[in-house]
Amino acid sequence: AGVLTMQRVAVLGATGSIGASALDVIARHPQTMRASVLAAGSKVDALLALCRTHRPEHAVIADDAGYVALRDGLRDAGLPTQAHAGGEAMDALVAGDACDTVVAAIVGAAGLPSTLAAARAGKRLLLANKESLVLAGELLMREARAHGAAIVPIDSEHNAIFQCLADGNPAARITLTASGGPFRGWSREALASVTPAQAVAHPKWSMGPKISVDSASLMNKGLEVIEAHHLFGVPGERIRVLVHPQSLVHSFVDFVDGSTLAQLGLPDMRTALAVGLGWPRRIASGVGALDLLAQGGRLEFEAPDLDAFPCLALAFDALAAGGTSPAALNAANEEAVSAFLQGRIGFLDIPDTVAAVLDAMPSQPADSIDALLAADARAREAARARIEALPARGAAA
Ligand code: NAD
Ligand code: MG
Repeated sequence: AGVLTMQRVAVLGATGSIGASALDVIARHPQTMRASVLAAGSKVDALLALCRTHRPEHAVIADDAGYVALRDGLRDAGLPTQAHAGGEAMDALVAGDACDTVVAAIVGAAGLPSTLAAARAGKRLLLANKESLVLAGELLMREARAHGAAIVPIDSEHNAIFQCLADGNPAARITLTASGGPFRGWSREALASVTPAQAVAHPKWSMGPKISVDSASLMNKGLEVIEAHHLFGVPGERIRVLVHPQSLVHSFVDFVDGSTLAQLGLPDMRTALAVGLGWPRRIASGVGALDLLAQGGRLEFEAPDLDAFPCLALAFDALAAGGTSPAALNAANEEAVSAFLQGRIGFLDIPDTVAAVLDAMPSQPADSIDALLAADARAREAARARIEALPARGAAA
């Protein structure tokens, strides 16, 4: 393989769970792809360790305070990797010729600028950062179309749907499957006292802390409904959620002729990343073949419990309201999840906070990035004010 066939990949959020899975798949294909840019938030040591293994051309730490440690660490390790710091440096590297493909795996709305930069530069965009689609889905999809950026969703459900839609026929209806998280079957009452440690212990997937809490509250599935709407152009009324505890059927699509196509596989994000990195070719991911009998021989489905898990209904409502509402939903949720993980609020305060913020912020038209970012900021402020006003909790687990 010559220089022209080498796919150069920027991995944003390299020190996270998706980042690790992406680097694992890339390292399996040294003849055809390599990690040319690695970016992380604030963990300089973890980023340096990745640089020693993957030897990228560029390393970026989003937190400016980490620059000197990164630069000196790269020099001391004898690496040729160039050090950079800050969001603008990251966006410039994403848009420039250091990469052809961008794995957008930063967590939260913080990932929006770099994701937009990749779309505007026409890169192949492996999009794990679902919050950027919830916050600015219309804008992001418009920019990707205008600049020829091919988006491959790196969310198991949306990656499944992407595969089911490969022949170009439109979906009549989409069904997103949900594991149900660690609290499937629990009553609202029982959920009041769950701890952060319980919430991040996901039964099927190993993920970062924020998405793990979202999975436990079903907000993750709500964000995914909005994500699916933008990625596939399907209105909320034609998107359904089914709880599927085995997490082997990753989603399905109904077509006009009565056919339903699904994608199945073991719950391991390397499959989705291999689809994104190799598409339209199938490439090895390190994930073994699915053996349904070895997995227990059952595939079960049930309706989600919207009383115990109101976040899912809140997300459908925000999608229907449109405008600034999804941005407000996402921002309020990020603030509430962060407070929950710090032990400052209870689990049920997450949906309560999001609902209160949505009530206080009627949807407004959101035709610009500025309008969306303003809504994001206002929702965060409202969420923090509400969290401050809650009675202090005892020491968290
Ligand atoms: P994680 O917490 O494990 O990793 C987050 C990464 O983002 C880290 O590398 C961190 O350094 C980086 N980061 C955080 N803030 C940053 C900032 N301001 N600037 C630059 N980098 C920053 O999270 P994860 O589980 O890997 O999830 C990443 C994204 O992928 C999320 O949007 C999540 O919803 C999505 N996703 C994850 C999974 C999964 O299986 N983990 C599945 C589907 C979708
Ligand atoms: Mg998912």
